[in-house]
Amino acid sequence: MKVLKFGGTSVGSAERIKEVASIITGGEGRRIVVLSAMAGTTNTLVEITGYLYNRNLEGARDIIAALEKKYYGVVAELYDTPAAAQKATDYVKDVFLTINSFTKELFGGIQERLILAQGELLSTFLLTTYLEEKNIPVRLLPALEFMRTDAHGEPDSEAIKSRLLPLLDGEDSLYVTQGYICVNAREEVDNLKRGGSDYTACLIGAAVQAEEIQIWTDIDGLHNNDPRIVEGTAPVRHLHFEEAAELAYFGAKILHPTCILPARYANVPVRLLNTMAPDAPGTLIDNVPDCGTIKAVAAKDNIVAIKIKSSRMLLAHGFLRKVFEIFESYRTPIDMICTSEVGVSLTIDDTRYLGDIVHDLKKYGTVSVDLDMCIVCVVGDMDWSNRGFESRVLGALEDIQVRMVSYGGSNYNISFLIKEEDKEEALKALSASLFAK
Ligand code: ADP
Ligand code: ASP
Ligand code: MG
Repeated sequence: MKVLKFGGTSVGSAERIKEVASIITGGEGRRIVVLSAMAGTTNTLVEITGYLYNRNLEGARDIIAALEKKYYGVVAELYDTPAAAQKATDYVKDVFLTINSFTKELFGGIQERLILAQGELLSTFLLTTYLEEKNIPVRLLPALEFMRTDAHGEPDSEAIKSRLLPLLDGEDSLYVTQGYICVNAREEVDNLKRGGSDYTACLIGAAVQAEEIQIWTDIDGLHNNDPRIVEGTAPVRHLHFEEAAELAYFGAKILHPTCILPARYANVPVRLLNTMAPDAPGTLIDNVPDCGTIKAVAAKDNIVAIKIKSSRMLLAHGFLRKVFEIFESYRTPIDMICTSEVGVSLTIDDTRYLGDIVHDLKKYGTVSVDLDMCIVCVVGDMDWSNRGFESRVLGALEDIQVRMVSYGGSNYNISFLIKEEDKEEALKALSASLFAK
């Protein structure tokens, strides 16, 4: 069994949906296809829920109507037969009746999540109806019947497996299902958070012990630097799971950061592929390390650095625990950390409780905050027994002001904290020094 996930851009128009159909019917063997909502739909649904929370019903109805119209446009372009077009039109109508019904009722979390679920329900229905029109045997697997989260909102792997496997025991070879959506521990419609379709694909891949999980997107695999900022980037052909996890978290948005874990534990390789160039090799991610190579650079903005300086830290024990407990009490994850004998610097990207955190930290020393910072992360074989790698990376940044350096936390990464305004220069300098041919 293979799992193939297509992102929003890959199903973003009637034409693209047809291309997806040709890719998934071209392959051999049993396949589960996971779809995102059409590009822009989830954003629009989020916008609609915002209007509904604010009781701006007029505004909500306007955007709902515009989105509905867009879907009729897709239906008109996608199908050749009146029967298929009618079937899809009826479905779209139903979906928008549901969405519109929430402009009349009291609005809360349950209604919000129901609205957010409609994007993936639409895209999967449109694709399966298209395949049926072309007489291609396909089964639509409702994700709400098997994708489940536990009381902590984390995927419940046991439940997913025990609900999914019986749905697959027929002779079918092509299945289509929704990414992102699930039921929670109360069996209410919920979701795996933005970008969660990749997560769905990896959870399914792990549950069925797939041969491979393919993540299809609109560019040629993961690049060695952000192609929106640096010219002449090249696709990376192979990554270790840990390298991919670092990159996904630190800004290479191509793969959802948490999604890699289930695939890694189940030892199922993940391949990033390009819908625009289906025959290109893409990027393979597995548990095999590559020795002696630097693979890629990624950057993450909106980082805040916090420094606590305290003479009490000198030779004391338990100081770091006290500092960490403050972050824990505000449920704020720490990303990077550097310590000296008299101070500690750390970074966060969730600034909701920044004021409270700083207030509490002041009990332990002098606190200073740097806003608008950026973490640049270089991944590759960063085993400490290698010689010269750190200095090559640091050398590339000789003209940049570096606020923090983190090395040795894993065998695969070295990260720097710089000013956001220096990001472009830093990414270009790193590319020139690390990847120039
Ligand atoms: P999809 O809709 O297919 O899920 P995403 O929202 O996951 O697509 O976005 C993928 C985008 O991430 C790419 O189009 C690309 O612009 C961007 N990106 C950022 N950094 C990188 C990188 N290092 N390699 C590849 N793509 C990157
Ligand atoms: N449609 C959802 C989103 O835009 C999930 C996904 O595309 O992965 O966040
Ligand atoms: Mg994505």
